[in-house]
Amino acid sequence: MNYLNTSNPSEVCSFKEALLNGLASNKGLYVPEQIPVLPTSFFDSIIDMSQQEIAYEVLFPFVKNEIPSKEFKEIIEDTFHFPIPTIPLNENIFVTELFHGPTQAFKDIGAKFMAKCLNYFQEKDTKSTVLVATSGDTGSAVANGFFNEVGVEVRILFPKNKVSPYQEYQMTSLGKNIKAIEVDGTFDDCQALVKEAFSNPELKQRYKLTSANSINIARLLPQMLFYFITYRNMKQNKLENNLVISVPCGNLGNLTAGLYAKKMGLPIHRYIAALNKNDAFGDFLNSKTYQPKETIETISNAMDVGNPSNIERIIDLYKNNSNELRCDIKAYSFSDSETLNEIQNAYEKSNYILDPHGSIGVLALKNNLNTNEIGVALETAHPCKFESVIQKVIATYPNKEVDLKKCSKTSIQPKLDLLIMEL
Ligand SMILES: *Cc1c(COP(=O)(O)O)cnc(C)c1O
Repeated sequence: MNYLNTSNPSEVCSFKEALLNGLASNKGLYVPEQIPVLPTSFFDSIIDMSQQEIAYEVLFPFVKNEIPSKEFKEIIEDTFHFPIPTIPLNENIFVTELFHGPTQAFKDIGAKFMAKCLNYFQEKDTKSTVLVATSGDTGSAVANGFFNEVGVEVRILFPKNKVSPYQEYQMTSLGKNIKAIEVDGTFDDCQALVKEAFSNPELKQRYKLTSANSINIARLLPQMLFYFITYRNMKQNKLENNLVISVPCGNLGNLTAGLYAKKMGLPIHRYIAALNKNDAFGDFLNSKTYQPKETIETISNAMDVGNPSNIERIIDLYKNNSNELRCDIKAYSFSDSETLNEIQNAYEKSNYILDPHGSIGVLALKNNLNTNEIGVALETAHPCKFESVIQKVIATYPNKEVDLKKCSKTSIQPKLDLLIMEL
């Protein structure tokens, strides 16, 4: 499979190059040259397949000729070993829980898959350094995904006093090849430092710097499995017809993976992009022109993105048919108070605790599901990651206990020469 650059279609590269480069030239993103269509026999037998078996069939075409089947099976075994269940909230609304990985957010899957692929391509006796800036969730997923990988050092930059204590714990308690660096500044300072390091060719070469942020195609492709596994789960209950999947969206990576899954033949009736007040994508669907917006802070903070990067990949996927795009996806946006109300409502009516992101997913279904449709919202994080939000409407929600003695971090001012000493 070749990968193309969305801003320069004549630039063709391999999966390995797309993985190592992360971002293509001219700020373009890598996309698969074509999306393979799976045979109907696959969908007939999916009901009896394990998560790993489904993952192998779906993902192998994207790496064929570069990773041998046996090694790829091992990567799959290591990535898809925790459960991805689909749970009913009522007769026609369900949630698929994507939070059973080590850091309780869906990003665990993409981070682990990328780590294993990088490890496969790593030349013997060389070391590469993954450098990532985080406002919270990405850092912990990347830290856990790459923990103990031979030949890969991970450096995570996070803004001092601006991540939750639990997120900080998740990044600073691992040790070994993971080093957490607290930057006396904002998330933007962290991001700027990372960009400065990457734009220095000498530095990039000396440390073999690689990025693990969410625009990396190797983090996006495995997320297609959320949709295939949801479909299998629903089919096991004979509820697979007219499925509508509601995706809590930030950078639109998860939704893009869902659209790729549909292109592969997965019979999803339609998608809903569930948004908080950061609704640039909704405006785009309504107006046909895309205008980035200022980011607004909300309680579903992993979705606080004013200029979602994967919109490029979605536009590219539907470049010949923008009407089809508007049939496949509808977008709905909700406020913080609506989000909190739904957390309370799901707890009282269904005895289920939603996190703020999943709550928006469920709200979007409640607002526009037709009577002949069955809806599934993706639960993208465990509610325990947002305990102070949950406690506003569920007073008895417990606090987590973390062992701060296990934590270690270094602190720097946002300056490149200080960062270099930590690499
Ligand atoms: C990252 C994240 C999202 C947004 O996913 P995108 O792929 O960026 O659209 C939603 N919910 C949670 C909990 C996340 O961590």
